[in-house]
Amino acid sequence: MSFGSPYLTLPDFTYHRASTVEEVIALLKEHGDEAKVMAGGVGLIAFMKERLMSPAHIIDVKGVEELRQLRYAPGKGLSVGASVTYEELASSEVLKEKYTVLHEAVSRTGDPMIRARATLVGNVCEAIPWIDSAPALISLDASVEIAGARGKRTVPVAGFIRGPVDIDLESDEFVTGIQIPDAVRGTRGAFEKFTGGSEFAVASVAVTLASENKRRRARVVFGSVNSTPVRCTEAEKALEEGEFTQATIRRAAKVAAESVECVSDVLASSEYRKHLVEVVTLQALWRLLQN
Ligand SMILES: Cc1cc2nc3c(=O)[nH]c(=O)nc-3n(C[C@H](O)[C@H](O)[C@H](O)COP(=O)(O)OP(=O)(O)OC[C@H]3O[C@@H](n4cnc5c(N)ncnc54)[C@H](O)[C@@H]3O)c2cc1C
Repeated sequence: MSFGSPYLTLPDFTYHRASTVEEVIALLKEHGDEAKVMAGGVGLIAFMKERLMSPAHIIDVKGVEELRQLRYAPGKGLSVGASVTYEELASSEVLKEKYTVLHEAVSRTGDPMIRARATLVGNVCEAIPWIDSAPALISLDASVEIAGARGKRTVPVAGFIRGPVDIDLESDEFVTGIQIPDAVRGTRGAFEKFTGGSEFAVASVAVTLASENKRRRARVVFGSVNSTPVRCTEAEKALEEGEFTQATIRRAAKVAAESVECVSDVLASSEYRKHLVEVVTLQALWRLLQN
C-alpha cells in the first residue's frame, strides 16, 4: 500500500506494550494527544512510513489478553475483541454460519499475510473509505465498544465512522471491541466487491436478509463508493416487498444504482461506480436467491 511518498523509514517514537485495559487507559491519559493505539500495525506502520501520521508514542494492545476474546453467546450475540485478527475471524465457524456477510467480507480482505496480523477493530478505526468490514458490520447493526478514563460507551458502527480517517473517538479513549447482535434464525447475508485489480474495492456491497414477524427485513450497505459507507433504504424497501424473485433482485439493484450517491476519484468516475453498484448488488442478491 503506497500513497506515493518516498519515505521508507519510520519516524522516531516511544513504544509501549500494554498488558491490561487499565494500562492502555493510563497511557492514553498521559500521552493521548501524541499517541496512537496499535493493533496489527498493518495500517498504522504504512501511514507512518508515508509520514501521514507521526505519533510520538505507540501503545501496542496485542498483548492485552482481554482484547483477544472472540465470544458468541445465544441471545447476546458476538463480541470481537480489539486484538482478534482477520485470520481468527475467517476460520470461525460461528461467523461462517451466523454472520455470513461479515465472514465473506473478512475472508476477502487483503491476503493471508495481511489477515494474519490485521484486526477487524483496526480496520474500522482506520476508517478509510474503501474498507470492507464497515458495510458488513453496519448491515448487522454492529456497535463499537469504547473505554477511557471517563468510563465506557457504545456507538453504532454507522455513527462511529464520521468521514475519511475520522472516527468518534477522543484522544484519551480506545476501542476495546465490536459487539454484533445475535442474528435472527434464518438470517442470510452476502458480501461482494469489485477491485478492478486495485488492492482495495472500487465498490462493495453487504446485504443481509432476515425474517421478522413473518416480514422480510433487508439491509443493503455500500462501501468504497463515497467517503463513508452508504446505506440504501430504497433498495431495502424493494427487497422487503412481495416475493423474493429474479425480478425483485433486478429491481432492487436498479433502484440502488439510481439512489446511491457515488464519488469520482483516481480509481473510477461516479458514473462507473453507479454501474458497479448495480453489478455488485445483482451478484450478492443472485447468490442469496440461489441458496
Ligand atoms: C496490502 C494490503 C492490502 C489490504 N487489503 C485490504 C482489503 O482488501 N480490504 C480492507 O478492508 N482493508 C485492506 N487493507 C487494510 C487493512 O485491512 C487494515 O490496514 C487493517 O485492517 C488495519 O488493522 P490493524 O490491526 O493492522 O490496525 P493498525 O494498523 O494497528 O491501526 C490502524 C488504525 O486504527 C487505530 N487503531 C487500531 N486499533 C485501535 C483501537 N483498539 N482503538 C483505537 N484505535 C485503534 C490505529 O491507531 C491506526 O490509526 C489492506 C492493507 C494492506 C497493507
